[in-house]
Amino acid sequence: MEAVKRNILLNPGPSTTTDSVKYAQVVPDICPRENEFASLMKGLRNDLVRIVHGDLEKYTSVLFCGSGTLNIDVCLNSLLPENKRILVVNNGAYSTRAVEICQYYGLPYIELKYPVDERPDLSEVEKTLRENTDIAVVYTTHNETGTGILNPIREIGALAHRYGAIFITDTTSTYAMRPIDIEKDNIDFLMASAQKGLMAFTGLSFVVGSRAVIEASRDYPKRSYYCNLFLQYDYFEKTGEMHFTPPVQTIYATLQALKEYWAEGEQAKWARHTRVFNAINKGLDELGFKQVIKPEWRAGLVSSAIYPDDPNWSFDKVHDYCYERGFTIYPGKISTTNTFRLCALGAIDEKDIVDFFWVFKEALAVCGVQIPVKYND
Ligand SMILES: *Cc1c(COP(=O)(O)O)cnc(C)c1O
Repeated sequence: MEAVKRNILLNPGPSTTTDSVKYAQVVPDICPRENEFASLMKGLRNDLVRIVHGDLEKYTSVLFCGSGTLNIDVCLNSLLPENKRILVVNNGAYSTRAVEICQYYGLPYIELKYPVDERPDLSEVEKTLRENTDIAVVYTTHNETGTGILNPIREIGALAHRYGAIFITDTTSTYAMRPIDIEKDNIDFLMASAQKGLMAFTGLSFVVGSRAVIEASRDYPKRSYYCNLFLQYDYFEKTGEMHFTPPVQTIYATLQALKEYWAEGEQAKWARHTRVFNAINKGLDELGFKQVIKPEWRAGLVSSAIYPDDPNWSFDKVHDYCYERGFTIYPGKISTTNTFRLCALGAIDEKDIVDFFWVFKEALAVCGVQIPVKYND
């Protein structure tokens, strides 16, 4: 197997992959309607539940062909009963996406909105649930990838359940990295994509959640054809196949990525991401960069650094310098502050971050940015 040029992706997914995962896509051509392929997907679906310690009797996973936003769409449009409302607890770009999906479908919702650098107020979440008995679904994002803030999902899930609602959380940027226990964390539905924590490729997205609730949603209003959760689940249960053409090669790569996930182990993998994250913070701190999220609220996967007040700072120039040397940095996703992000996803380790900061420091020097970086306030 010839080594493929290794790029260090510090963007929030797709992430750096191993060569063994890259090459797993090169397989003999196969029609995905063959039993051989269906049996591969069966094992894959079970593994996706096991990663979040779900009991296979109670929880299942449903696969879709598309990027991660598809999961948000599927969950919201499929799991809301008639005459009920969704509560979106929103402190960032990804929960805002959920609000936009509610608007596009005309789903009745309540939005509890917080600044992007603050955690939601749980007493306010509870008050909203108490005063609005028609809330059937509570939704939030686990790690707001736009900033890297960690939301208290276990507590929000407990409140949802206390008031008779189901709890859906977007775990796209934590799944298979930060350990999750679907039942203990009070989650009914979570979601992710193969190109993030699993370190495989784009094209495969999945929802993991309660079989009983999916079965109950059979009779809920049908608002989408391609993106209906029950329809896809039912097709899988009856035939073992995806309703429409699956991303065949991405599925082969994901199977290899799962082998590597189990070989590395949940705790060891999380320890590695933590090492990488600590190295990123150390590098940023040493250069004097300020971050958006205070240390104790960081989810441990995304660092969001604020642009210095230096006339020579240019994100594009620094980006291009690093990119040409195999390191990809990423712009921020906050409308009020100019930021860039460095993420701890992917098949990388501490040494890659040390190497990165050599290049990054060179880039700052080439641009004439003062080190340590300066802020006006
Ligand atoms: C990456 C990500 C998604 C999916 O984004 P796509 O561009 O559709 O792949 C959804 N939610 C969160 C929190 C993410 O980090």
